[in-house]
Amino acid sequence: MPPTMTNMIPLAVPDLSGNEGLYLQQCITSTFVSSVGPFVDRFEAMVAEAAGAPAVATASGTAGLHAALSAIGVKPGELVVMPSLTFIATANAAAYCGAIPWLMDIEPSSWNLDPDLFAKLLAQECTPKGKQIFHKTGRRVAAVMPVHTLGTLADMTRIVSIARDYGLPVVADAAAALGASRDGQPVGNLGADLSVFSFNGNKTITCGGGGAVVGKDAELLALVRHLTTTARSGQGYDHDRIGFNYRMTNLQAAVGCAQMERLPALIAAKQRIRQTYDAAFCDHTELELFPKPTDSTSACWFSGVVIKKNVHLQPNQIMDALRTYGVESKPFWKPIHLQKPYVAAPRSTQWVSEDLWQRILVLPCSSGLTAHDQARSMAALHQILPSREGRKEI
Ligand SMILES: *Cc1c(COP(=O)(O)O)cnc(C)c1O
Repeated sequence: MPPTMTNMIPLAVPDLSGNEGLYLQQCITSTFVSSVGPFVDRFEAMVAEAAGAPAVATASGTAGLHAALSAIGVKPGELVVMPSLTFIATANAAAYCGAIPWLMDIEPSSWNLDPDLFAKLLAQECTPKGKQIFHKTGRRVAAVMPVHTLGTLADMTRIVSIARDYGLPVVADAAAALGASRDGQPVGNLGADLSVFSFNGNKTITCGGGGAVVGKDAELLALVRHLTTTARSGQGYDHDRIGFNYRMTNLQAAVGCAQMERLPALIAAKQRIRQTYDAAFCDHTELELFPKPTDSTSACWFSGVVIKKNVHLQPNQIMDALRTYGVESKPFWKPIHLQKPYVAAPRSTQWVSEDLWQRILVLPCSSGLTAHDQARSMAALHQILPSREGRKEI
């Protein structure tokens, strides 16, 4: 008999067991429910502290990405470099500016933008003119957007250094990377001009919906704030350009503050879940593990397994089978170059992204996942896809 929803182990649900309810009630009581209020200021301060750079809270991660690209001056018809393996919002943010994503492949080791390929394609396909660079199609290359996929850091040292050589601004899609660090440096302090977080419901820290843009350049960040608040100039109804209504509300920030109070514990839970899956499946003949960086600390947003090539089951089939065991699972992002709105976008070869995305299976990884439920999930996967005795690695 199929399990009921109540005993289904969910993929990723928020843990709202802290002060979320209390703070929401304070919003209601005080009538500060909208885009001004003490929780918004407090949330920005908490995100800035964790990210290592000042923050502007936004209505969503997508809104933050759009505001960040607008602030660094991305214009219609220009190109924005990004990995093809990302959530559609990265590409959409460029498209909202009228720009076109230039889709590059990822490294197999990190699932992040391949710095060698990025350097090679800029050298081969672009020409500098003054302080700007132009693609062979005549389009200006306006920015590069590394994505810290799953909260594992892209190689910012190399990507930022290559971008600097060409005068390209760097806007990091750090949607799920709050809590990640390299050499003790938090994610907002790794050289990007702006980094953008998401606080959607399935992220490690949630506001229900929400986002934040962080950056060390005070003038640039002030422009982000200006753009997200309808570009109002002065006290009246004067607006000096076309801005956006992208502010986070006090209600969202109330939930966010309660979540941020528990950031270290929530991140630690995510990392522990990753380690448990890795330990359980590292010797499995049919499975590979999620990326395991050696030179940085991942925020481990989602965890799961990668089905090896030539295994007779597809992630979708395993997902259906896991459901009959009461375990929710999910395939991962379909690359942008295979998405209808972006089929014509310029792209590199996509060997890695095309191979990988069809083999990734995300397993239950809520920060509140109990050891018992994780053990149940792993046992179900072992049942459906047993390790083969005597199978030889080729
Ligand atoms: C979640 C996510 C976003 C979108 O954030 P929203 O808050 O849902 O708008 C963008 N990029 C990546 C890589 C994400 O994981």
